[in-house]
Amino acid sequence: MMSEVDLDVVETQLAQAYTRALQPAAREHIHAALLELDAEVPKGLAECPSCGRVGLPERVREHDC
Ligand SMILES: [Zn+2]
Repeated sequence: MMSEVDLDVVETQLAQAYTRALQPAAREHIHAALLELDAEVPKGLAECPSCGRVGLPERVREHDC
């Protein structure tokens, strides 16, 4: 038998990956996985209006695109 999956851990790790994914295609897959878990896309994240990158607001403000 497989041990029980801790969905909180899975969700947290996916959320972390989502904030760090640099490629839009990768973020889409992570987003789809989060939706499958009925998890919200992490709150408090900002999206760059020019390139669509999602991340912590201060990171989005500082990045070059
Ligand atoms: Zn940008």
